[in-house]
Amino acid sequence: MSRPLPAYPVVSASGVRLKLADGRELIDGMSSWWCAVHGYNHPVLNRAVHDQIDAMSHVMFGGITHPPAVGLARKLVDISPAPLNRVFFCDSGSVSVEVAIKMAVQYWSSLQRPEKNRLLTIRGGYHGDTFGAMAVCDPESGMHHLFSAVLRKHLFAPRPVCRFDDPWHPDDIFELTSLIEAYEGEIAAVILEPVVQGAGGMWFYHPEYLRQLRRLCDEHDLLLIFDEIATGFGRTGKLFATEHASICPDVMCLGKAITGGYMSFAATLTNDRIVDGLSHANDGVFMHGPTFMANPLACAVATASIDLLFDSDWQANVERIEGVLRNLLAPARQLPGVADVRVLGAIGVIEMRAPVKVAEIQQQFVARGIWVRPFGNLVYVMPPYVISDGDLAFLVEQILDVLEGSPNA
Ligand SMILES: *Cc1c(COP(=O)(O)O)cnc(C)c1O
Repeated sequence: MSRPLPAYPVVSASGVRLKLADGRELIDGMSSWWCAVHGYNHPVLNRAVHDQIDAMSHVMFGGITHPPAVGLARKLVDISPAPLNRVFFCDSGSVSVEVAIKMAVQYWSSLQRPEKNRLLTIRGGYHGDTFGAMAVCDPESGMHHLFSAVLRKHLFAPRPVCRFDDPWHPDDIFELTSLIEAYEGEIAAVILEPVVQGAGGMWFYHPEYLRQLRRLCDEHDLLLIFDEIATGFGRTGKLFATEHASICPDVMCLGKAITGGYMSFAATLTNDRIVDGLSHANDGVFMHGPTFMANPLACAVATASIDLLFDSDWQANVERIEGVLRNLLAPARQLPGVADVRVLGAIGVIEMRAPVKVAEIQQQFVARGIWVRPFGNLVYVMPPYVISDGDLAFLVEQILDVLEGSPNA
C-alpha cells in the first residue's frame, strides 16, 4: 500500500489479448488467475449475459427458484463424477470452501458427533482468504501468523513429494495416515486440492495419494473435500483433477473458470449421503444463505461457458497446449537460476532458486508484449485454452528470453 508496484491500465480485452490504455496489446498467459478459459469478450458468453439481463439480473433464491439455476445445477451434476448430485450456489471460491467446511461440521453435529469438528489438510495448500479457508491454507504462506489469534488450529500433514508422473512412493502418505489414526475422533473432514496445488506453490503430486486418501477416509469415517476451484473445467487435462485418480470426493468446490471468467461465482457439490446426514437436525436446513445465491446472470453465463467448453473440444486444446509447453519450456532447465520446470495440462511452471523481483520482471514482460504475473519463486503460465500455437510460442519465448537475460531479475 505504501510503495505500490506499477499497475497497468487495461481498457479492453479480446481473445487472448489484453489492450492497454496506450494502445499496446499483451498476450495473456494468466487467464486472469485460472478463469478466462475461453479468452475474453467471447460472443457466446456475451450473448448469454445480455439475454439474461433482459429477463432479470437477479432475484432472491429463498422461496423462489429460476431456470438459470436449475439448468446449471443439472449440468453440473451431469458432468461431475457420480455420486455428486447435490449443488449449493454461492458467491466466490472462498465462500464455497466455507460452505464445504460448514457442510462437514454440520453433518457430524447432526449425527450427534459434534466432537468431529477439526479439519485435516496438507501443507502447501491454498483455499481462499476468508477465515475458515485461511485456517486450512499453508501455515507458513497462508497468513496463519498474522491471524493466528482468530484461526482455528487444524491438522497439517506434509505436502506430498511424489511427483505426478514419478513412480509412487508409499512413504508419501505415511504421516497423513498417522494423523488420521491419532485424531480420527476429532476430524470432520480432510480437505485438499487434488493433484495440483495452485497458489500455495504450483505443485503437481501423484494421484495415487488421492486413491489412498479416499480409502483412509472411508475406513476412518472422515468426509473428503476436494477444492477444484483452480483445477476444475479442464485445466489439468481432465475435466476435474479428481478424475486422474478415478475417485470421487464427498464434497467438491468449484469456482474460478465456472463462469468462463465473467463474474465471481462458485458451487459446492455433494451427495445424498451428506445431505441426508445434514438433514437429521436443524429442521433439515443447511445453515448458509448468501444474498446473491444462484445469481441468474452468473448461472446463465456459467451454463453457456460449460456448453462452450464441450462444443470446443477443450481436451484436445489442453493436450495441444501441454505438448507445446513441454517442448518450449524444456530449455529453461538449463538457465542459471532455474530450480525446476514442470508442466501439467495447460499449466506451465518455471520455479526459480530465489524470489523474482516482480516489478522489474513484469516491466520486461509487458515491454515484450506478454502478460505473466510471477509470485515468489514461480514464473508460470496457464493461458486461455483458445490460445494459438503461434501466440503460445511467442509467450514462452519471451519468458525464456527475459529469464536468460536477468535471472531473478
Ligand atoms: C482461488 C482459489 C480459491 C479462492 O477463490 P476466490 O474466488 O478467490 O475466493 C480457493 N481455492 C483454490 C484452490 C483457489 O485456487
